[in-house]
Amino acid sequence: MNYISEKVPPVREDRLKACNAFGGSCCELARKGKKGCLNGVKRTFAQTQGCQLNLSLAILNTIRNAVIVVHGPIGCGGGSLSMAGVNKGFQKLRDPNAKGVIWLNTNLDDNDVVNGGEEKLRQAVLYAEREFRPEAIIVVNSCVPAIIGDDIDSILEDLQKQVNAKIVPVHCEGFKTKIMASAYDSVYHGILRNLVDRPEEEEKVVYEDELEVIKEKYRKSRTVNILNVSSMSRQDEEELIRLVKALGLEVRIYPCYASPDDFAYVGEAALNVSICATHDDYFVEHIKEKYGIPFVLRSIPIGIKNTNQWIMDIASFFGLEEKANKLIEVETKELKEALEPFKEQLKGKRVFLGGGEIRILSTAELLQSMGMEVIGLKGYHYDRFAEPLLDMIENNENIVFNVATGQPFEQANLLNRLKPDLYIGHIGTNGYTAKQGFPIFPLFGQSSIYMGYQGAYEIVRKIARVLRNPSFNRNFVGNSKLPYRDEWYEQNPFTYIDDSAAL
Ligand code: SF4
Repeated sequence: MNYISEKVPPVREDRLKACNAFGGSCCELARKGKKGCLNGVKRTFAQTQGCQLNLSLAILNTIRNAVIVVHGPIGCGGGSLSMAGVNKGFQKLRDPNAKGVIWLNTNLDDNDVVNGGEEKLRQAVLYAEREFRPEAIIVVNSCVPAIIGDDIDSILEDLQKQVNAKIVPVHCEGFKTKIMASAYDSVYHGILRNLVDRPEEEEKVVYEDELEVIKEKYRKSRTVNILNVSSMSRQDEEELIRLVKALGLEVRIYPCYASPDDFAYVGEAALNVSICATHDDYFVEHIKEKYGIPFVLRSIPIGIKNTNQWIMDIASFFGLEEKANKLIEVETKELKEALEPFKEQLKGKRVFLGGGEIRILSTAELLQSMGMEVIGLKGYHYDRFAEPLLDMIENNENIVFNVATGQPFEQANLLNRLKPDLYIGHIGTNGYTAKQGFPIFPLFGQSSIYMGYQGAYEIVRKIARVLRNPSFNRNFVGNSKLPYRDEWYEQNPFTYIDDSAAL
């Protein structure tokens, strides 16, 4: 994989042939995915969904000592308002002197659509440099400048000669993709081209025999980069650091909450460790190509099985299998004992999970191991990285899988039929699901722990608490409703998914 010479990264529909619309069983999804029949499935009716610019901001807003310039109308990036205070708090957990998010918007209006927004971008970047003296100015490009043809790369190249901050263009225009996860590639593309790969640095020639020497040096360095793209809380980070340090290794965390200058050290590690292939394949593949640094990408450390595998994958690279086996044995024994008292209460409870494909599948595996019945899953998209996890799910021929970013109407219909005892999803989705009277539990939150052994315990403990008394949400029924007519609930939830044009 090498897209770094391109100014703009490809979207996931093209790069991974990812699917964004499907309704059927897990088995059918796996079968069609393996045959390559899912790319190009469309909806004949669709509701709105998150755009990749907003997901890009969720990652970029965490970066310390940087200014974010959103090049677009004032509404683009407005979601940062809700994150501003929170992000400052989470930055301070990593750096007491952190200043929180500083962001500007170029406020493009009707006149700019006719005359171009380039001058406003120029002024915003110069203002950011003058006023804040940041280490980096990250320019996030939205739909409008892309449609009217603002040549942001040329402007920023020119501005780079006038400012000290490293300028990082991020091409994450929402209209370009229906796979919101393309944002991860857009952000990593900007980082790889401008923070890891400084443009002014010369390409180092690496001869074949020297490469072996370098690989050996990296192997001895005992340092791993763990990648967090805003799906890991500080407590998650601490748990994973605890486990990796127990193997005798050192840890650095990128890209969230790092500062721009930290990226200069990305290449000084023996191994890149992802917690989720949906997040990181673009980054780790490029770093391997550039620096010869291998990576671990197979599993997300949620649940006992996946955490064990994640630790073992890291340990195997360093030849530390024996140490890892001991660690896994001790941790697993302690965790299983701690989880035992919850089993009776959770046994047979029917659960539906919605969110990123890798995260919902690994969480589902944990809940099945507690005796819960997984009855449905809604993944934001589906690609080859989910296949092994799908195989790990028991009884998957009877579990419904809906591939949809957004599309609450499909989920509302589906939940109305399945009537789960518990819904697990992200914040916005949980809000409208609660209106249907279902108890909810957050799939992820920045203030909680989900990963590793401690995370598995906390997920189970908190779910047990939610299910102990779900009457608050049950009482929403009759007092609040979603905006769909009764006729919609009588139709097939996947009525508007059209696979006639699928590849
Ligand atoms: S879809 Fe386009 S216009 Fe809408 S918020 Fe995203 S970048 Fe802005």
